[in-house]
Amino acid sequence: MNSDVEHSEPVLNNIKIPFYRHDLGEAEVQSFRAALQDPILTTGKVTATFEEHFAAYMDSTYALAVTSCTGAMHMALIALGIGPGDEVITTPMTFIATGTAILEAGATPVFVDVEPDTGNIDANLIEQAVTPRTKAILPVHLYGLMVDMKAIRDIADRHDLYVIEDAAHCIEGERDGIRPGALSDAACFSFYATKNMTCGEGGALIVNDESLYEDLRLIRLHGMTKTAYDRSREGYAHWDMVRMGWKYNLSNLDASLLIPQLDRLSCNHEKRQRLAKAYEAVLAPMQGVEIQTDRPRSVNARHVYNVWIKAKPRDEVILGLRSLGIETVVNYRAIHLHQYFRELGGYAPGDFPVAEALGNAALSLPFYPNMPLEHVQTVCEALETLLSS
Ligand SMILES: *Cc1c(COP(=O)(O)O)cnc(C)c1O
Repeated sequence: MNSDVEHSEPVLNNIKIPFYRHDLGEAEVQSFRAALQDPILTTGKVTATFEEHFAAYMDSTYALAVTSCTGAMHMALIALGIGPGDEVITTPMTFIATGTAILEAGATPVFVDVEPDTGNIDANLIEQAVTPRTKAILPVHLYGLMVDMKAIRDIADRHDLYVIEDAAHCIEGERDGIRPGALSDAACFSFYATKNMTCGEGGALIVNDESLYEDLRLIRLHGMTKTAYDRSREGYAHWDMVRMGWKYNLSNLDASLLIPQLDRLSCNHEKRQRLAKAYEAVLAPMQGVEIQTDRPRSVNARHVYNVWIKAKPRDEVILGLRSLGIETVVNYRAIHLHQYFRELGGYAPGDFPVAEALGNAALSLPFYPNMPLEHVQTVCEALETLLSS
């Protein structure tokens, strides 16, 4: 247990079962304290240590710690030379950041509809969306269930496309022996407040190609050839700015919070699996809800526990659960129907019907590693009552 840091009372004090609670505690306090002893607060030795450990955990050659997954995806696109005039194929069943990262790079997101039983991009529909402008595929491993990376790699090879993974949900995931980063040019992770590992705000990318890695290092920090940490070790030397860069470096302080969490990932993942199995046992046979279908030979990273509400308007269920003190969120309403994407791409309801139907039904139930198992029963009973009334 790592629960020495007490959570303050929730703002809305009639919440009995919160959607999420982090498990940062004494291990993180100690690591943060140690990081404060280092004269360098910005990106330095602690960040480098985290990167080494994260690369080892993910079995990749290189890892770069950055301030967000959104930034990580933007950087990956830039480093691969993707920009104005280029198209990137992605899914509308995701957080908006998958789409905005493509826009930040100056490229155009091209949405492809999703599988009805997983919510993941439908690999069978990707090829018909490929045009002479297509440069990359950017799949999302929704809720922690990996997409079929072998199929996506095959399509990418046939059409000479890059693959960048939005693995924000999928640190612990695996499918057919393949993990995030294994078959792509870059995989991007989020350490946002509710992710499986968190420092409040943060992210990372993993890559195996050395020159891509070197370019990403420049892109991460203004295109500068030396960092403050380099100067602290090597003495002052003029640095040059050799390419356009951004400001995406993760500080030592933030990285210090992540290091101890790597040791808890597998234990926390087991806890998530146990809770997910408990949910599944009750919800799989329940009328009016559907759950994500697992794929054979896959390990679901279990970022959130989503159900699709079929028997009632989803929003009524959110309010009903809330009145019983149960907090839920929506991951996600299909992003092409948000006003900005709609205006930009001329989208209308009906364009991606599967994603839209799932997005109108999606509900993420309370789910976090140290959630008491009894909460699962309470949530499921509340859900059943609401669905049958
Ligand atoms: C959280 C999330 C992101 C954004 O991560 P940030 O670190 O907040 O930028 C992107 N994609 C998906 C699928 C996410 O869940």
